[in-house]
Amino acid sequence: MKDNINNASRALVAGGAGFLGSHLCQRLLLQGAEVVCVDNFHTGRSENLAELTAHPNLTILRQDIALPLPDDIQVDHIYNLACPASPVHYQADPVATLRTCVEGATQLLELAARTGARILQASTSEVYGDPLEHPQREAYWGHVNAVGPRSCYDEGKRCAETLFTEYGHRRGVTVKIARIFNTYGPRMAADDGRVVSNFIVQALTGRPLTIYGDGSQTRSFCYVDDLVDGLVRLMESPADLSQPVNLGNPCEITVLRMAELVCKLTETQVPMQLCDLPEDDPMQRCPDITLARDRLNWQPSTLLHTGLLRTIEYFRRHPSDVVRDAAAVVSH
Ligand code: NAD
Ligand code: UDP
Repeated sequence: MKDNINNASRALVAGGAGFLGSHLCQRLLLQGAEVVCVDNFHTGRSENLAELTAHPNLTILRQDIALPLPDDIQVDHIYNLACPASPVHYQADPVATLRTCVEGATQLLELAARTGARILQASTSEVYGDPLEHPQREAYWGHVNAVGPRSCYDEGKRCAETLFTEYGHRRGVTVKIARIFNTYGPRMAADDGRVVSNFIVQALTGRPLTIYGDGSQTRSFCYVDDLVDGLVRLMESPADLSQPVNLGNPCEITVLRMAELVCKLTETQVPMQLCDLPEDDPMQRCPDITLARDRLNWQPSTLLHTGLLRTIEYFRRHPSDVVRDAAAVVSH
């Protein structure tokens, strides 16, 4: 097993053409790593990698991670971010989502076992379901519906955590599990139905902001650069840190407050439209990040206000995305 992690120079990023994955590829290339981005472009976009495609250290492999990977891949670090992440995308084909979570994770774990690479799983706060404990600590087992509309994602990610843990115990693979809470920033897809992208696109196109339920449900939003920093720190942490680690911003706000903030920061005055709350939509979510603070010396540093302004600026600079996708903005 390779322990000299600071010299690790070859990374595979599964899902590297997606929102988080493209930022991670960028960060690793900046650090001087060689990066292999493996993506089937299901929800990822080549535009996300536009600034990077000419980089001599980046290789892009169009491939479904649930299928066998080429034998000759030699990397030190494997980041598994490949999975549709927003409800509208992961619910479009629930069986495919499960296959990606379970068979995809298995393929990458086998690669790690073969090559001695460390491997990090992008898990999710969804493993806590609609939590009965608040804020959520890693020791909380969660409150998840096994047969609801979110189950393909929640249970797929829970199963992937089990697979990672067992490959760690039985095959000696160095595994890392990041439980990522809601993350936002430039390169979010305008049409993926997430609250931040929906509200910004709606505000910029003068449409009503769609509030699901009464807007009193909470989330805690982490800016993408902070999150990527947490992922890299977790990957580079001592080998014995194999248990799940929450990565997210502990500043919790209601959906209604987020809507007001987006209106203020975009300087728009659009009405709010109350819509039905989707089934099994968690009522509150906020990470306890004590473990990440203690073991990774990590905590988010970007203020919500600052991160939202950067995200709004991104959408303003991509007006064709906004106009094209405005029609597709999901009101579930
Ligand atoms: P995204 O949809 O933008 O990126 C996912 C990427 O994975 C896309 O490029 C997609 O094409 C690719 N992909 C999907 N299925 C694949 C497959 N079978 N084979 C190869 N590539 C495949 O989503 P994101 O927001 O960047 O999320 C990245 C990861 O982080 C996901 O695993 C997600 O579950 C996790 N996560 C994200 C958040 C968040 O707030 N964004 C929160 C918790 C967890
Ligand atoms: N939401 C909303 N309006 C929207 C999109 C989402 O009120 O246009 C709500 C959604 O019901 C949820 C919260 O915002 O309570 C976060 O939704 P998102 O899909 O961004 O993330 P997740 O539910 O996966 O945490």
